[in-house]
Amino acid sequence: MFRFALVSLRCVFVLAVVCPSLRAQEPPPLPEPATQALFVDSLPVFEPAIAPGDVRPHVELLASDQFEGRRGQAGVRAARYLVTHFREIGLQPLFGDNFYQPIPGPDREDGTKTFYGQNVGAWLPGSDEKLRDEFIIVSAHYDHLGERNGAIFRGADDNASGTSMLLEVATAFAELEQRPRRSLVFLGFDLEEHMLWGSRWFAAHPPWPIEQVKLFTTADMIGRSLGDLPISTVFVLGSEHGTGMNELLDRVGRPRGLNIARMGVDLIGTRSDYGPFRDRKIPFLFFSTGEHPDYHTPTDTADKIDYEQVARVASLVLNITTEAANADQGPEWIADVQPQVAEVQAVHSIAHKLLEADEAAQFGIGGASKARELTGFQRFIVKQAEVTTRQILERGTVTPAERSSLIRTAQVLLLSVF
Ligand SMILES: [Zn+2]
Repeated sequence: MFRFALVSLRCVFVLAVVCPSLRAQEPPPLPEPATQALFVDSLPVFEPAIAPGDVRPHVELLASDQFEGRRGQAGVRAARYLVTHFREIGLQPLFGDNFYQPIPGPDREDGTKTFYGQNVGAWLPGSDEKLRDEFIIVSAHYDHLGERNGAIFRGADDNASGTSMLLEVATAFAELEQRPRRSLVFLGFDLEEHMLWGSRWFAAHPPWPIEQVKLFTTADMIGRSLGDLPISTVFVLGSEHGTGMNELLDRVGRPRGLNIARMGVDLIGTRSDYGPFRDRKIPFLFFSTGEHPDYHTPTDTADKIDYEQVARVASLVLNITTEAANADQGPEWIADVQPQVAEVQAVHSIAHKLLEADEAAQFGIGGASKARELTGFQRFIVKQAEVTTRQILERGTVTPAERSSLIRTAQVLLLSVF
């Protein structure tokens, strides 16, 4: 996951702190939060096709000392690991006869190119003569932060977890007897942690016109949970920008044991490799289980990953991309996003869970750690979010003005709590 947007979030935080409407008066008395979990999820449930034992070895290896944080020469080793896997399962190289797409740096004085990194890509040709020139992309960035001051940043969640999804979804497609109608593309991006350099290079230098991409998907950090809260939830962002995407997600449903929170991508800004595709109006979906205290530290290690959850998210990506690859009609870009009650539900649910965890910590319930206890300011922000979202949910509609305020609330909430 990409750090840059945090800077702008920090600005939002500063604005919120100095904003008179938030600060001037005493907080008004607020109703007590409801005591029941409010995450209503009526989606059909399916059994995950990918198992924890499938994804685990990839994460453990890519996050081991041997891969030294997957940057520079260690990044080259990680790229080779992905290509070996693509070859073994019998996929075609994506870049002519090459699985690698070099990303050049600035020219040297003698005119020769420097080397920044490389994307890796493979594909499975579609079975339908008419639709095989349309592409569904499954992707994850494989790079991380390398070594700093003698400490290895292993990036088990960020993003060995997403990379393991990529490899196992590719395997599942490669093993199919009947290939999907559209072509499937499997992409491992380099240099995501370097201002999305890898995905930006790919989007500017695709092997075919970029308009032939009907759906771009990427997963970044899918092995932990937002703020370490006990919520078993994957955030799915971007469905608001593609025609028929919400209906497709409704049809696919959710893997057993995993909640899905659908949100508009503007709630978080550009945080990962979907950015360059969104900018080119390609329908996309972004999957993440959110930030946690080990994010971008040497303690993001493989022993802390929830492999059941990684396998469930991978199974979800597999089913969604299968559905998209076989549909009669691919999604079209939607520029004007309509407010959706589902995302109010998601923000409400997070606020509610935070208050529950805070209460448990305050009163020492269920061995909850004191670390979960909110400060007075955080509690005020979270309670306000809980109440305003509950009011919207009770009414059942959300206005554009409420949505703007929801975006600010979500950003302040993300920033002040995590
Ligand atoms: Zn990151």
